[in-house]
Amino acid sequence: MAAVLLMTALFLPLAHSAEPAASLSIKVDQAGYPLDGPKVAFVSEHAESFEVRNSHDGTVVFIRKLDPPKADADTGDEVQAADFSSFHEAGEFYLNVPGVGRSWDFSLASNVYERTYYLAMRGFYVQRCGTAVDMGPEFPGYSHPACHLHGEFHPSSGTKGPRDNIGGWHDAGDYGRYVVNSGISTGMLLWAWEIYGSKLKNVSLKIPESGNGTPDILNEARWNLQWMLKMQDDDGGVWHKQTSEHFSGFVAPQDDKLPSEVIGTGSAPFKSTCATADLAAVAAIAARVYKPFDAAFAAQSLQAARRAFAWTEANPNVTFRNPPGVTTGGYGDSNCSDERFWAAAELSRTTGEAAYSNYFLAHYAEFLGGLDSPPAESWGSVASMGLWTYALSHAHGDDSGANAAIRQRTIAAARVVVERTRANPYRNSMKTRDYIWGSNSVAAGYGIYLLIANLFEPDAAFVDTARDNLHYLLGRNTFSLSWVTQVGEHPFQHPHHRPSASSNLPAPWPGLMSGGPNAGRGDAVLRDLPKNLPPARVYADQTPSYASNEIAINWQASLVFLLAGQLQ
Ligand SMILES: [Zn+2]
Repeated sequence: MAAVLLMTALFLPLAHSAEPAASLSIKVDQAGYPLDGPKVAFVSEHAESFEVRNSHDGTVVFIRKLDPPKADADTGDEVQAADFSSFHEAGEFYLNVPGVGRSWDFSLASNVYERTYYLAMRGFYVQRCGTAVDMGPEFPGYSHPACHLHGEFHPSSGTKGPRDNIGGWHDAGDYGRYVVNSGISTGMLLWAWEIYGSKLKNVSLKIPESGNGTPDILNEARWNLQWMLKMQDDDGGVWHKQTSEHFSGFVAPQDDKLPSEVIGTGSAPFKSTCATADLAAVAAIAARVYKPFDAAFAAQSLQAARRAFAWTEANPNVTFRNPPGVTTGGYGDSNCSDERFWAAAELSRTTGEAAYSNYFLAHYAEFLGGLDSPPAESWGSVASMGLWTYALSHAHGDDSGANAAIRQRTIAAARVVVERTRANPYRNSMKTRDYIWGSNSVAAGYGIYLLIANLFEPDAAFVDTARDNLHYLLGRNTFSLSWVTQVGEHPFQHPHHRPSASSNLPAPWPGLMSGGPNAGRGDAVLRDLPKNLPPARVYADQTPSYASNEIAINWQASLVFLLAGQLQ
């Protein structure tokens, strides 16, 4: 992530094709609301009442008073809730607020997030490297020839020469591939399959592998997994990343001719512990989930996971920093103990072997406290995934008390999030301090946390509150903006994303989630915004704003998990 490049006048605003009919003071989930759940929109201009109208003929189908205004410190808005939960008709609708205007259109349907899930998963296909990408007749012109075909080993890798460069996803707005960020991203997708597979198995993603007998979410995850496996050296260790030495210009994928280099730590053992442990964790999950579809690939993955974990036992904390002359993303992490812990937990779940479960039981207490501060995971903090995978695999308890402790702490913290969300004027789970770099993935992360809690103790409040955070991402926010490209009538338009920014297409590549507001103001665009902006408003839908408007596979994976949890 964080492709640090300053842009010039190259990025002119794209014309927006939607009718400028809607008021940005009315905030709806632009994808829509499930028929049977809570349905709440927000209005940030004072008014008395609202109507739900049919989008096709304007018929008023529901009228109600708005709730009293509440002041929201994080946005500076005075917010009134428009609650139409008791309306249960399927169709296309909009809100009309007398004195304010109308909202964007939205759907009410039983499986209202199916298309958003489809697009978000296709967002990974968008990022495929080393191959031609073509979004098909649904998105004419959204295609490019094979990219980054010249791969080689950088001297910092401890080896040299050319290498095959096919596989993996471009990490973010740049064209690099990073094992550490691939780890949580791929792991999250495989978890989505393990937990929600019955709902996902029949969703075709219209990718080249569709129809091969393997569910498409696993086909897509495998594209990246196979690249990750190729990053493993003969000794079991895993090189940290494969990128050019510096970020390319804002060119199309096939026009970036910088060599794609396997980059290591610069001295023996050349591989890094966090990357190796992340591969061990993800490959251990893969050994479980691919077994029914491709037993040989599952066995290969398990073997890779075992070898990787063994390497981390011999090399418990080899950290990574960019070697001299390399300036692409570092994904530096000074502590790889949580990555090793996650790997041990996944290997324990897959194999049931005492060596891995003993490692887990010897270390879990060190990480339990992290569950008290949701959202618990990020690319550099994966201990919660280790804790949860253990608890998810011990449905009927264990002798150690670990299972009960993990479940109780998760449920207790989730209840706190539910209460805070109910009190939040915009009804999302965000705290003032959560508007950091990638804050949209924090919102998604709260949703993931609540969905995991719901597995431990089913409770509609957990699922509804997770969905509140999805509503936030899809338009129920101060900007009345959908933060997923080509989803809703008013999606963001200018991601920090080279394939989008280098094209003349009318809209960015579809299905990609923005990083979102960043009160840390990590780029020049954000630093130029007014000084007194509340944290949730420090955002710019501008390509150069890499600190608020980049896309990234780990954020994307958290969106997919959140959506998967809401499918019917
Ligand atoms: Zn590429």
